[in-house]
Amino acid sequence: MLLGNLRQQVLGANLELVRRGLVLYTFGNASGISRPDGLVVIKPSGVPYEDLKPEHMVVTDMTGKIIEGDLRPSSDLATHLVLYKTLPAIGGVAHTHSECATAWSQARRPIPCFGTTQADYFHGPVPVTDVMTDDEIEGEYEKNTGHAIVRALRTLDEGTPGILVANHGPFTWGPDAMEAAHNAAILESLARMAWITTTLDHEVQPIGRALHDKHYFRKHGKDAYYGQTKEKI
Ligand SMILES: [Zn+2]
Repeated sequence: MLLGNLRQQVLGANLELVRRGLVLYTFGNASGISRPDGLVVIKPSGVPYEDLKPEHMVVTDMTGKIIEGDLRPSSDLATHLVLYKTLPAIGGVAHTHSECATAWSQARRPIPCFGTTQADYFHGPVPVTDVMTDDEIEGEYEKNTGHAIVRALRTLDEGTPGILVANHGPFTWGPDAMEAAHNAAILESLARMAWITTTLDHEVQPIGRALHDKHYFRKHGKDAYYGQTKEKI
């Protein structure tokens, strides 16, 4: 069986999404990439999480062709592939419909940074993509979802470990599949806290620049292991 360790890790990342309460039924998916092999391991489509085993993971190449596996890959595979091709530093991607992050996605509102929890991860608001056009939706929808994400990232000055897809939900990434799942849990927590914060004070202002920068750059120097600079995307 190809990529045994990566299969285990991708399975672990998918189960982490469940453990953190980020997925309902079979919603959500996580994948990981072996850059030297040019191969991606992703959860199969529609299999209950409690039944998932390493051998159920699907191995594809960078075009989405199945290299090993009897099951169909997650229908979001094409989105993951666009992210892997565009963000060379990442090694894992996760997608959920976790409730609070999805609520912000549906409201099509970036999540403002109100405190240091978010500042540790995002150098600004959690971005949201543009609404996809009818042509994009009727065409190669999942691939175009990836392109919508990449377009939104290009307007950012600094790296981000995740994004909200308008009217859909969050995608996160990281150096490996487990870190992508971790970032999915963090993003859900940030979305929940921001929702409560704006409920408590409708006119609340984002965190000040000095405190935001202090927290962000404590964790994200030039040797940062996730997040992309403008040049890289
Ligand atoms: Zn989805």
